[in-house]
Amino acid sequence: MNEPIQRVGVHYNACYERHDTGPGHPESAERYRVLESALATLPPEFVRLPCRRARVAEILLVHEHYYHDLVYRDTETFADRLRSGDTAICEESYDVALEATGAVLEAVDTVMAGVVSVAFCAVRPPGHHATAARGMGFCIFNHVAIAARYLQSHHGLKKIAIIDWDVHHGNGTEAIFIEDPTVCYISLHEANLYPYTDDSSERGQGAGQGANLNIPLPNHSDGSIALQQWTAQLEPLIDAFQPDFLLISAGFDARTGDPIGGLRWTDETYAEMTRRCLVLADKWCGGRIVSTLEGGYNPQGLAAAVLAHVRALAR
Ligand SMILES: [Zn+2]
Repeated sequence: MNEPIQRVGVHYNACYERHDTGPGHPESAERYRVLESALATLPPEFVRLPCRRARVAEILLVHEHYYHDLVYRDTETFADRLRSGDTAICEESYDVALEATGAVLEAVDTVMAGVVSVAFCAVRPPGHHATAARGMGFCIFNHVAIAARYLQSHHGLKKIAIIDWDVHHGNGTEAIFIEDPTVCYISLHEANLYPYTDDSSERGQGAGQGANLNIPLPNHSDGSIALQQWTAQLEPLIDAFQPDFLLISAGFDARTGDPIGGLRWTDETYAEMTRRCLVLADKWCGGRIVSTLEGGYNPQGLAAAVLAHVRALAR
């Protein structure tokens, strides 16, 4: 039998190629096409998950109304940047961002229904730099943050953990949940890199004190340093927090050879982190994980690391 021990859902779709960031941009449709081709080689035991466009009310679980409207209007008026900052867009970007958020929520529903126990969503644009009121970096809507709120509001779960291993700090996700004791956000990222919000003393604020970890890693360090921090800081916090569901902001720009990130992780680093996530999810979350693509800008490296991640999800 070739069937994985547990059923893994994967989502990828050509609709994400419609988000055009302009010539020379690292977060490109070409990057996505290479990843899509790699995911298409997975055997049919990996359950393909469908598209589903997010409703505006779902975007508003996290984002402020005026920011949603700003994204809509900027795309309708053919702007090439969001007025909120440095995010490149095209006339399709609002629609594509809704598709990306919706696909993650569909994956959440599919996992909650028990059809699959874990899922990976290859979507773009990414989301973890987007705050409630502002797009930043290459991010428009914060899919993973919306998924956390959706799990609470639509599925009645109380405590959600988000592990973010993109090479950049997920400042948007951190800011959204910084005072929230019901969502635990843990980011492993390279120090002194965009968006320059790395701060190892930031453990959460107000009622959210203790439910945040901001773990900067030394420039040029390899995966062993990240795994040491995982053991020393991440695992003890997840064990103390006891989440009902695990979300992963899965960027692959810490992989060696990435043109933006300066770390030296390997495909095996991602496989090992994935196995550790499964252990934590088995312990606290009934095995439930939804992982969502964030960064990763060397197309071949991205495809290899994602395959290592998804195969490890299948155990
Ligand atoms: Zn990144």
